[in-house]
Amino acid sequence: MGSYVSFANCGLPYFIGDVIVEEEKLLVATPALFENRFNIRVHTDTEVLSIDREQQRISVCNLKTSKQRDEHYDALVLSTGSKSVWPDIKGLDLPGVHVLRTIPDSRQIKAQLETIQRAVVYGRRLSGTGIG
Ligand SMILES: Cc1cc2nc3c(=O)[nH]c(=O)nc-3n(C[C@H](O)[C@H](O)[C@H](O)COP(=O)(O)OP(=O)(O)OC[C@H]3O[C@@H](n4cnc5c(N)ncnc54)[C@H](O)[C@@H]3O)c2cc1C
Repeated sequence: MGSYVSFANCGLPYFIGDVIVEEEKLLVATPALFENRFNIRVHTDTEVLSIDREQQRISVCNLKTSKQRDEHYDALVLSTGSKSVWPDIKGLDLPGVHVLRTIPDSRQIKAQLETIQRAVVYGRRLSGTGIG
């Protein structure tokens, strides 16, 4: 996972539009809250590299130190979410083209607001999900 354990994705557009002004207001929960309230230890900036189902172990990498280690689990819940879709459209690698999924994404867009006059928001309906 990235640096933020829980944040309000739905608040990101409001953060960009200055309806939510303080970035901390996007943070729904912190690792400390998870630990104190639920006795759950959260490892931010840590990527799961592989799963050994026989041994019930996962191999993880600390993305800040690049150190790898193994962790044991009794039960494993996969909830890897998704990534933004980058459609096959020419020019998507140009500066000024962004996706919006994370807090760092929203920071990048917000930083450009001073210099842009027109913006296009592109999304596509995911068939069968009712979302979009
Ligand atoms: C701009 C925006 C607005 C939205 N507005 C709404 C709304 O108003 N209402 C609504 O219901 N939904 C909204 N959503 C959708 C909602 O945020 C998502 O449906 C929800 O975040 C999905 O949760 P998730 O836990 O499945 O995935 P995610 O939130 O994507 O979490 C998955 C996590 O898994 C981590 N991960 C992935 N691979 C690994 C790995 N190998 N090792 C370790 N960690 C890994 C990722 O880093 C991430 O932290 C919005 C989303 C966006 C982007």
